Amino acid sequence: MAYKALYRTYRPNTFEEVAGQKHIVQTLKNAVEQKKTAHAYLFCGPRGTGKTSIAKIFAKAMNCTGEGTIRPCMKCENCLAITEGTHPDIVEIDAASNNGVEEVRNLIEKVKYAPIKGKYKVYIIDEVHMMSAGAFNALLKTIEEPPEHIIFILATTEPQKVLPTIISRCQRYDFMKVPNVDIIKKCKSGLKKEGIRCEDEVLEMIAQLSDGGMRDAWSILDQCIAYAQNDIQAHHINEIYGLLTIQEKLSLLDMVVHQNAGQCMKMAETFSEKGIDMKRLTMDLIEILKESIIYDYTEDESLLHILSVDDAKQIKKYLSTTQRHFMIDTLMETNEKYKSATDIRSYFEICLLKMMKEPQSSSTQVVRKMVTQPSQEKNVSRETKVEEPFELIEPEMNEESIPVEQDIKQESSITNELHEIKQNETTKSNIIQPLKDDFILQLLAGANKTEKQTDMACFQSIHDYAMDLEWIKEANLLSHGKIFASGKNYTVFTVESQAEANEINEMENKNELSAFTAILFHKRKKIFAITHKESLRITGIFKTKMAEGTLPPPLNFTLSEISDEKPVEPTEEELVMDLFGKENILITED
Ligand SMILES: [Zn+2]
Repeated sequence: MAYKALYRTYRPNTFEEVAGQKHIVQTLKNAVEQKKTAHAYLFCGPRGTGKTSIAKIFAKAMNCTGEGTIRPCMKCENCLAITEGTHPDIVEIDAASNNGVEEVRNLIEKVKYAPIKGKYKVYIIDEVHMMSAGAFNALLKTIEEPPEHIIFILATTEPQKVLPTIISRCQRYDFMKVPNVDIIKKCKSGLKKEGIRCEDEVLEMIAQLSDGGMRDAWSILDQCIAYAQNDIQAHHINEIYGLLTIQEKLSLLDMVVHQNAGQCMKMAETFSEKGIDMKRLTMDLIEILKESIIYDYTEDESLLHILSVDDAKQIKKYLSTTQRHFMIDTLMETNEKYKSATDIRSYFEICLLKMMKEPQSSSTQVVRKMVTQPSQEKNVSRETKVEEPFELIEPEMNEESIPVEQDIKQESSITNELHEIKQNETTKSNIIQPLKDDFILQLLAGANKTEKQTDMACFQSIHDYAMDLEWIKEANLLSHGKIFASGKNYTVFTVESQAEANEINEMENKNELSAFTAILFHKRKKIFAITHKESLRITGIFKTKMAEGTLPPPLNFTLSEISDEKPVEPTEEELVMDLFGKENILITED
């Protein structure tokens, strides 16, 4: 008998067989029981999390004519035909390959006919965001006024690309990544039925690799079975996916701790020769350190998935929590840099050396102090600066800008004043630093939701410019950001790292972004960037200050390059409500 892929064999056929998504399954079951189904559903979520599987189960449940109370019964004619994929009333469309107006027109043509066999005609449209604008519009008309017997289930991995007018007519369900425990449970029972041996460690690895996608987990197992036959072991997965065993990773960390640079570099060379995925290794090292820190705090064995208790204790013995935090920061920073790196290996090697530099030596103690106790420093500096007059961009201490690289290259300067190190670090410009709190608060005070929505709609086309030679630099720079707040003539972005934020603020400072914003937003806007982390913190401050009535006044740009736009000034109250929504704001009269 030909081998049937596991993900086909173990595709769920009933609500009970679905991995994860408990809240969605329960809601849909209730809808079927109470006969309260809608005409259009939108299933959003990452790939392989069960969107189309659940859509099919739901279609079955709605058309099931079985005797009992359990829907789908999996016995009646409708259930069987839908499972087989031969039911005439269930139409599955992959919008990725049928994205044209013609296909949708054909579909809509048939919509008016009554179902042949079942109670409802169910159209399952996968990757619906891939449909062309024309096709979307054609579909919209039908979704607006669907015949009684029609149900649309739209599935997408990218809901932000689906027209808001479509979304507003659908009942929306957001699918989550499947938790590792559920993936492991499913895999275990599947393998048992197939009579295949597999160590628990392997299942943990597969769950990690599949990143919340049940379908991916089955595919990985399929590959392992093809390679290892009936007995899958950890080294098989390592060989297939270019991974290291936990012991190999630990011995790499051990070399870092003992500052054995020579051995480390040799190991990196071997990894490279063996085709080890260094990006994944970087993430794995972060996971190991993270897990060991969690164990430090909890001593809870059940929270250990990668490490054994002995491993965790061993790590604690030779690495302080502070050191591990430092190493995690360094690894994460390196991981960020991979995105634009051409030579991953050399970044990885530098990362190992950086982590090595950290312990013991007295000069690095200073750096460590700076890295690990930034909040005190920061608070002091903020408190003393609060009353200073506002400056657009001004150097300020911030933990994210503390230069970790510096400890290698500039050991002599490490004991110098903090800001001196800072200046050494910024190579391109000496003045671009994180924006000041007061300045950001002023930006927020002048922001409003309508402007933000307009900006966000325009921002969807950012990727079109990433291929445009004229705008490639600007588009790439902004494309990793998210719009945080928008004022009449400015937009505040959030980005992952302080380095990215600095780069954007620097370009803005040099007026290199305004021509691009004129095209992207259809009007010239100033662009500011802060990190996601900062945005959360500043939102907290904003809310507090608003409650106290101590918000700074909104910022008024009267800059020549945007003077062709007439700034409209709403009242402060309107601005605040616009920004966070009425429901989140308590206005006190005074
Ligand atoms: Zn049935």
